[in-house]
Amino acid sequence: MTAAVEVRDLRVTLDGAPILAGVDLTVAAGEWVTVIGPNGAGKSTLLRAVGGLLPAGAAVSLFGTPLRALKPRERARVVATVAQSPAVPAGMSVLDYVLLGRTPYIPPLGRESAADLAAVHDVLDRLDLAAFHGRELATLSGGERQRVFLARALAQGATLLLLDEPTSALDIGHQQEVLELVDQLRREHGLTVLATMHDLSVAGEYADRLVLLAAGRVVAAGPPAEVLTEELLASHYRAHVRVVRGEHGPLVVPVRPR
Ligand code: ADP
Ligand code: MG
Repeated sequence: MTAAVEVRDLRVTLDGAPILAGVDLTVAAGEWVTVIGPNGAGKSTLLRAVGGLLPAGAAVSLFGTPLRALKPRERARVVATVAQSPAVPAGMSVLDYVLLGRTPYIPPLGRESAADLAAVHDVLDRLDLAAFHGRELATLSGGERQRVFLARALAQGATLLLLDEPTSALDIGHQQEVLELVDQLRREHGLTVLATMHDLSVAGEYADRLVLLAAGRVVAAGPPAEVLTEELLASHYRAHVRVVRGEHGPLVVPVRPR
C-alpha cells in the first residue's frame, strides 16, 4: 500500500544552519504518528516541510506523489496543517475563518458555493462550535480557538492532518476532548495524522508510533513502549523520569533528581 507520507533523507538548512540533517519518516495511510523531541529538535520544521510550507526538494512524497509535483491548490486538498501558533486575523468571525479552509475549492475570483457552506457548517456542528459561528475569533478562549483551528483544517477536506502541538494551549479536559475527536475522525473518515506533542504520556496514548527527534535527526522510532524508555528520555531530554505501565501505553512521570 502507498504510504500517506514518505520522507527520505530530508535536509533543511535555515539561515545557513542545518536544522534537519537527513530525516527518514514513513506514515501509513490511516496511521497516527507523533513526533516528540526536546525544544528546538526540528519538530515544527519537519511538519512544515511535509506540509509544503518549506522547500523540501524531492525528499517528501504524499500518497505516492512527490510533494513538489503538487500545485498549491492540489496540495491543500491532500494535506491540512494546524500550525503551532496560528495567526488570528483581527476582526474575523469563526465562520469566515473556517471558510478559509474551503479556499482550494473556490475558483479564483469566485465565491463559496452552497456546498462549501454546508461543509463548514457540518464541521462546526461536529466540533461543537455551531453556537460560536458569528463570534469574533479573537474573543474565544484558548480551547475554543484551538477547536476552530482544527475546524478550518477539517473543512479543507484533506486526508492528511498535520497537527503541531495541537493541545499545548489546552487544559487537561480540553486536551482529551480534542485528541479524542481527532482519533474519532481518523477512524470514521480514514484520516492520517502526523502530530507533534510535548506531553509524552499523552503522545504515547494516542499514537500508533512515536518518532523521537533530537538535533535534527531521528534517534528512535517505533511503538510507544519502544521509544518512551527511561534511557532514551534521559539521554535526549536530559530528564529524570520514571516510565510506568498504563492502560493505553507507557506513562512518563517526571521525578525530581536527588
Ligand atoms: P521544535 O519544533 O522541535 O521546537 P523547530 O523546528 O521550531 O523546533 O526549530 C528547530 C531549530 O531551527 C531551532 O533551533 C530554531 O531556532 C531553528 N529555526 C527555526 N526557524 C528558523 C529560521 N527561520 N531561521 C533560522 N533558524 C530557525
Ligand atoms: Mg515546534
